[in-house]
Order: sequence, then structure tokens, then C-alpha cells
Amino acid sequence: MNNKGLLMIISGFSGAGKGTVVNRLLDKYGDFYALSISATTRSPREGEVHGREYFFKTREEFESMISNDELIEYARYVDNFYGTPKDYVEEKLNEGCNVILEIEIQGALKVKKIFPEAVLIFLFPPTVDELEKRLKNRGTETDQVITERMSRACKEIESAYDYDYIVINDDVEECTDAIHGMINAEKLKVSRQKDFIDKIRKDLVGHYC
Ligand code: 5GP
Repeated sequence: MNNKGLLMIISGFSGAGKGTVVNRLLDKYGDFYALSISATTRSPREGEVHGREYFFKTREEFESMISNDELIEYARYVDNFYGTPKDYVEEKLNEGCNVILEIEIQGALKVKKIFPEAVLIFLFPPTVDELEKRLKNRGTETDQVITERMSRACKEIESAYDYDYIVINDDVEECTDAIHGMINAEKLKVSRQKDFIDKIRKDLVGHYC
């Protein structure tokens, strides 16, 4: 079997529940997944820890990561920069882990250009009302930021067509299992298993054909 890990990207509107679903995937399926921790210039929210949710950087530090070519991609989201560190992703893929990038859409589409075999999953809320409700209930954002994030969703929906899968996050458990099922199926695609098929074919041809 092809032992190289699969690169998967989970995007979705702010408030769609990406963090919750990703944490559930990690809790439930342990070492099958590795989560890439992004760098950001955003300030930590209450309870967030440097190196766990994000690597929190100053603008200058973030710019130096860009100039040292340490990021696979980066994007500006509302008023902050976010980027995916390169080394960790490559290392984990080579170890055979399925690497999750929980990133916004511009970044996801850039990654797809660099890694065309990446699987892009767009997480949807069941309704727009529910999305707004979740953002308000989170209680971490001001009304102005909530409005900015809802208006950003209006633009982001246009890119949903460029993704490979959508998943509706109505029930976290079902949503988590749906994603895990997709990833397992993706890994068994013939296009990802050519080396394995070739090996069996070679052994057959050498001995029985
Ligand atoms: P938040 O501020 O709510 O933690 O994240 C805002 C947005 O930035 C989310 O849509 C999140 O998925 C996205 N994001 C987090 N890390 C990265 C990254 O490394 N690159 C890009 N392009 N987006 C990211």
C-alpha cells in the first residue's frame, strides 16, 4: 500500500465548527491524523496557547517567515495574516500521517496548486441563521467582527465549487465520521495506489504470467 500520508484541507465559514470537528477527528482517530499548527499575527483569544492553537507572531516575525520561505502558503483574513509552516507538513506526510490543514479558502486553493493530490473539504453550517447564531454564541468576537465574517462568507461561498467535498456540520459526531470515511476512501483510490498495484503486478508477471 502507498504509505505516504494524505494532505487534507478543511475550510469553511468562520463559525462553521471547523475547530470542533478537527479536534474530534484527532481525539477519535489519534495518530491517523496530524494537525498542522499555523502561524498568525492575530492576538490569542482567551484560553489559546502558543504552539497549540497557533504560533502567535508579530507582523515582523511573520514577514521574516515569508522571506525565509518557511510557509507553504499564507493569506490575509480580516485584519490578520495566517500561514502554514512548511517543514512540519512535509515531515508528517513523509512519516505517513494524514495531515490536516484547517485554513481559509485563498490559502486552500494555493495549496491545491502546489499539492494537486490534496483533498479539499468545505464544511457547511446547516443554515445561514445557524451560522450567525454560532458566531454570536462563541462570545469571543465583537459585533463588527461578526458582521465582517458574515460578509466574508458571501465571497467565500463562490469558491465552494472548487472543493472536492462538502460536509454539513449539523451533528459533530456524524460530520467527523463522514470526513474519516472520505479520507479512507480517498486513500484507496487507484490513482493513489499505483505503486502497490505495480508491485503486485510485477510479482505476478515474474512468476505466473
Ligand atoms: P481564526 O482567527 O478564527 O482562528 O481563523 C480565521 C481563519 O483563518 C479561519 O478560516 C482559519 O481556517 C484560517 N486559517 C488558520 N490558519 C491558516 C493558515 O495557515 N493559512 C490560511 N490561509 N488560513 C488559515
